Amino acid sequence: MQTIEKWKQFDDIQSENFCDVDDETRSDMEYIDLSLNIERFTGYSGVSTQRIWSAIYNENCFFLPESKLYYNLRQKRLNADKLCLEGRTFYRLISGLHSSISIHLCAQYFFPSVGGGYSGSDGRWGPNLDEFRRRFDPETTDGEGPGWLKNLYFIYLIELRAIYKARDYFHSQNYFTGNQTDDIHTKQLLTENLFQQIQPFANYFNENDLFKNGNEELKADFREHFRNISRIMDCVGCDKCKLWGKLQVQALGTSLKILFAESPIQLQRSEIVALINGFTQLSTSIYRLEHSFKTCLRNHIEL
Ligand SMILES: Cc1cc2nc3c(=O)[nH]c(=O)nc-3n(C[C@H](O)[C@H](O)[C@H](O)COP(=O)(O)OP(=O)(O)OC[C@H]3O[C@@H](n4cnc5c(N)ncnc54)[C@H](O)[C@@H]3O)c2cc1C
Repeated sequence: MQTIEKWKQFDDIQSENFCDVDDETRSDMEYIDLSLNIERFTGYSGVSTQRIWSAIYNENCFFLPESKLYYNLRQKRLNADKLCLEGRTFYRLISGLHSSISIHLCAQYFFPSVGGGYSGSDGRWGPNLDEFRRRFDPETTDGEGPGWLKNLYFIYLIELRAIYKARDYFHSQNYFTGNQTDDIHTKQLLTENLFQQIQPFANYFNENDLFKNGNEELKADFREHFRNISRIMDCVGCDKCKLWGKLQVQALGTSLKILFAESPIQLQRSEIVALINGFTQLSTSIYRLEHSFKTCLRNHIEL
């Protein structure tokens, strides 16, 4: 048993993973239907969320010369300017993911009925324009909001490129839905429709600009700090937020694995599921931004 544990540790160190991938054979594993548990407002907020976001952003501080705490609202711009390209990329990916989560909760916000609370079913769900403005308007974010929204497009393009880069791998896979017609349809949607649609945008980001001159140490650090973020997700104190948070961090980790892989791409089933669903969340956020919050964008926020 100890030997197997050692092998596993060795494999983990060697692995090109950016996230710890959960073991699907564990007996306490549960299957969740994502379509029944959509990402939306949960009311999760306060000191706990501040601690989590702060811990996530502070994984970025290893890029700073003085290793100062990164997460400081007032100093954020100052610190971001001091970062190298890899550091800025790391920050923009996290910020883009944060924007996507915020957009989802603003787009599917819960308005309790008069006298009702957040927990009851008595109320309605819908977009909350005031909440969106509070989170992204330059006036309420020290001018940072529009930049955070641009970071959403950044992470979207990176995941898009990763999916496109792995197209041959996706072509070679079998898809099991439990229904043969759906299996064929799923493969068709992915390998024909999706790839065709994303192909024109697949070169907007070039991963070869990062870790130039074979900077392997920086790449290993980048990977390790990203792994720390995937571990921080286990501390999220709201089950639905944790579900979507973990899934989307794994989607990003899988994208980075594809983009920076030195050996032929090899993905686990859960990585493929996370990547496709995570990318869907980012696309949905962009759709929401351009539809539900169009008036805010036009009248207050310039991208
Ligand atoms: C992993 C995770 C998943 C979550 N999922 C959900 C969910 O599904 N539903 C839900 O209702 N809540 C969710 N939450 C909580 C949600 O993200 C907020 O933390 C919460 O709504 C409180 O918001 P806030 O106004 O305090 O600002 P927060 O969103 O907590 O942000 C804290 C600070 O970070 C900075 N900031 C904000 N956005 C960005 C950005 N895009 N880029 C850079 N800096 C930024 C600002 O200075 C802000 O004050 C989740 C939290 C975490 C950590």
